[in-house]
Amino acid sequence: MTDETNRTIGGKSAHPNPRRATVMNCPYCASENLWPDPETDNAWQCRDCCRVFSVKLHGQLPRGV
Ligand SMILES: [Zn+2]
Repeated sequence: MTDETNRTIGGKSAHPNPRRATVMNCPYCASENLWPDPETDNAWQCRDCCRVFSVKLHGQLPRGV
């Protein structure tokens, strides 16, 4: 998609949300064209493959694994 598409869809103006895990690449298509989803608390929009997804932290492994 083009820069113009990103300007018209909106999203990066959303307030930073500590519950939204930081994601560097789309897990489905590896695109970096990710934007916070304004419709949810913690989801991301991928504007290349048009998926909306979230990342959930389930906990940590003990040290030494
Ligand atoms: Zn994607």
